[in-house]
Amino acid sequence: MPSDGDRVRLARRVRRLLRVDPGSVDLGAIDPRSTPGFPSRPGKGRKAWSRAEVAQIGNLLSAYQERMYAAARAGTSRRRLLLVLQGTDCSGKDGTVRSVVGALNPLGVQIKAFGAPTPEELAHHFLWRIDRAMPPAGYVGVFNRSHYEDVLVARVRSLVPPEVWRPRYDQINSFEAAAVADGVAVIKVMLHISYEEQGRRLRARLEDPTKRWKFDPADVDDRDRWDEYQAAYADAIARCSTPAAPWYIVPADRKWYRNWATANLLLAHLADLAVDYPAVELDLAAELARLDGAPGKTSEKRPAGRPQRNAR
Ligand code: AMP
Ligand code: MG
Repeated sequence: MPSDGDRVRLARRVRRLLRVDPGSVDLGAIDPRSTPGFPSRPGKGRKAWSRAEVAQIGNLLSAYQERMYAAARAGTSRRRLLLVLQGTDCSGKDGTVRSVVGALNPLGVQIKAFGAPTPEELAHHFLWRIDRAMPPAGYVGVFNRSHYEDVLVARVRSLVPPEVWRPRYDQINSFEAAAVADGVAVIKVMLHISYEEQGRRLRARLEDPTKRWKFDPADVDDRDRWDEYQAAYADAIARCSTPAAPWYIVPADRKWYRNWATANLLLAHLADLAVDYPAVELDLAAELARLDGAPGKTSEKRPAGRPQRNAR
């Protein structure tokens, strides 16, 4: 059983292994079935080990999350975290939210799924709806799809002409740089699956009546443009992997690795935020004495006529 310190060290190693340096990206050279940083478990099921480990990491994540939330409430820190999840259909974005983000305290989590823009959103700059969804101080924000769709689907499906989508890379970089400067830790994750695995998962969506609701015929149209999407992803990642807000490519054909790796990315960043509980200025002795002397303590009853604290 690793200690919490071991876990944080390993998480930083995983982050290093998955981080994309600015420059070009060759998605074809990254095996979607690979498991960078995953410890070798001789004689043990990797799936079961991952599940148990993700639960342990989840406990650590919520402990860090609580510090960040408490500090924001006290006004001593404005730090917050944004997890951007991108990936083709069936890459596991929803599953990652359920399995990894699900370990956090929902009180301090803000999840936003981005679909095709509404008429109102279309009337604004493409970053308008993104800006409105940014996590408040102390929160973990999660984007299920994001502003990157505006250089992915918008480009591949020619929703806007090249002279509109091309300048967007720079606009995204400026937007994210400003967010980082304002205290947001931005973690951008591409869930990288293979063409074959997507085929298997789409087939399962069709064949399994409990998964059929997830099937969208448009997904098959997008699958026909697989190479164009991969090229658009490679460009977006290469152009927008900045030192302030790098991209991480998570091999995602194996769900147990995908969950473990993403949990580690969150852990490395939350640990590095190093937000601690706020120092609370209280006359502790006086408050305890007040509590001890509080009416109702011995009788377990409030004296008549004394209003309840939260009474309106
Ligand atoms: P899903 O994530 O499967 O619920 O589907 C959401 C759909 O919304 C996907 O087909 C995306 O391509 C689409 N979408 C998300 N953002 C945009 C955008 N900015 N412009 C056009 N389509 C988008
Ligand atoms: Mg879809």
